[in-house]
Amino acid sequence: MNLAHMRIPILSLFLLSVLSVPGQEKYPLNTFRSPLDIPLVLAGTFGELRSNHFHSGIDIKTQQRQGLPVYAIAEGTVTRIKIGLWGYGKAIYIAHPNGYTSVYGHLQKFAPEIESFIKKIQYEKKSYEVEVFPDYGDINISKDQVVAYSGNTGGSSGPHLHFEIRSSISEKPTNPLLYGLEVRDATNPTLLDLYAYPLSEDAQVNRSSKKIQIKFNKQKDGTYLAEKVYAAGTIGFGINTYDRQDLAANKNGIYSIQQSVNGKIYSYFNFESFSFGETRYINTLIDYDHFGKYKERIQRCFLTPGNRLGIYKQIYNDGQIPVREGLTYNVEILIKDLHNNTVKLIVPVEGKRQQPMVIEDEEKTEHFIIAKQPNNYDLGAAKVYFPANTFYNDFYIDLKKGKDTVVIHNNRVPAHKNFTVTFDVANYAPEERKKLFIARLDNKNKANYMTTFKRGTTFTTRTRSLGAYTLALDTIPPNIRPKNFKARQWLNNYRYLSLIISDDLSGIDSYSATLNGEWILMEYEPKTKTLTYNFDDNILNQTQCELKVIVTDNVGNSNTFTSSFYRK
Ligand SMILES: [Zn+2]
Repeated sequence: MNLAHMRIPILSLFLLSVLSVPGQEKYPLNTFRSPLDIPLVLAGTFGELRSNHFHSGIDIKTQQRQGLPVYAIAEGTVTRIKIGLWGYGKAIYIAHPNGYTSVYGHLQKFAPEIESFIKKIQYEKKSYEVEVFPDYGDINISKDQVVAYSGNTGGSSGPHLHFEIRSSISEKPTNPLLYGLEVRDATNPTLLDLYAYPLSEDAQVNRSSKKIQIKFNKQKDGTYLAEKVYAAGTIGFGINTYDRQDLAANKNGIYSIQQSVNGKIYSYFNFESFSFGETRYINTLIDYDHFGKYKERIQRCFLTPGNRLGIYKQIYNDGQIPVREGLTYNVEILIKDLHNNTVKLIVPVEGKRQQPMVIEDEEKTEHFIIAKQPNNYDLGAAKVYFPANTFYNDFYIDLKKGKDTVVIHNNRVPAHKNFTVTFDVANYAPEERKKLFIARLDNKNKANYMTTFKRGTTFTTRTRSLGAYTLALDTIPPNIRPKNFKARQWLNNYRYLSLIISDDLSGIDSYSATLNGEWILMEYEPKTKTLTYNFDDNILNQTQCELKVIVTDNVGNSNTFTSSFYRK
């Protein structure tokens, strides 16, 4: 190989790094239209901090209404349709020729051709919940085609469209606002709180060896200036912030946070893209202990053990700042939204060791978890098994036992992996065991059903939530009552038939319904406890109809409702 050959790649590499933003992909700007034909107002942004995950799309407000036409953002082919009780509810995935897939969730219903395609499958499988992957090219979509109507299905707490753009190959979700969709936003992010963290063993911040809040004030030029921080050892910073756009009060997520020290960038992350495989590491970005106590999410500008997030575009010294006595440091934190509206916070730091305040140590319990190793505990009422790397950190775990109840630490430590809780139920009569299940007690001591694996006299559940677990008994079958009709009524002009179903303790596991012995599709909306049959499905061929609905709870208690009505 001669030298001339080697110089070209080195030179072009150099030019590339100068001419392009590092790590920033090129996104097609004028290829995709908006999925709705109303002005885009957001109830949620990409990367927004949610429970155990980053939001993987944008939530578009639909004017408190359902049924708005949802358009394909470009021509393509349907690659997936999913109907689930939770998550995205009714959702459709469309792959486009340019390598991106668009996703539309919480839909009320699909466009007629797609609706009849999926209903056929629901009737074949006798199930409301279905997931299908049509062959490439089976359901082609043209640009501007209405593919669905917006709704509120699945884990949605108000009418809106959840919209994503993913890479078709890697399935990584990308920020949908990088493709030129128009959202009015001249509003700056809002900075709520600043915290300083002593990180090394010998570190202190304003005499404290624990995290403390730092006050700041807005300056005339719009920047924020924090009170001077006196520190020694290695320290870090974290902020509590949100962003809103112009046309709504929703508190959405910011796009990027950059921290620099004396002009050098120590950490920079943004929400251009992330992978579903890393999304749970959000619990290493936020101060989880603080979140458990106050339900506020502090985003840390430094890395802690176990953080495997790929959102960092620049990182130096893990974003941690070693402070030397006698020196001063100018820490600058820039918070941006996607439209480049920027909040600048200056934190002056002076290296100075002071008489430390007396602060109680972390409570030492008799059990110390070494995160890298598996850990096994017998608590009498139950055994708890943590596989290796369930946790990010080593810590003293607090374990308490009562009759049929164990308390596994508290909600201020995140678990990354599932661990198991196993109860011995030998004390219960075999008949009783059938109605028994493992429940997690929430902070109001309400029992929530956990999927319970029963094998002889041992009941096991898998979970990623620390807290209280108990055995609970459910002997009461579900309740079923009609919502919009009475027995022996004529229902000629009715479009729907609906019922209310509920279960007190273990919750509803399954339901099925027939008309004159034929299975019918009843859509279930757990949020309103409603089952709905659409008369358009045309199962009826006689005037007198016998309806039968069977509902079963999670421990097998079952109830059957029958009624008759007339229809011509
Ligand atoms: Zn969403």
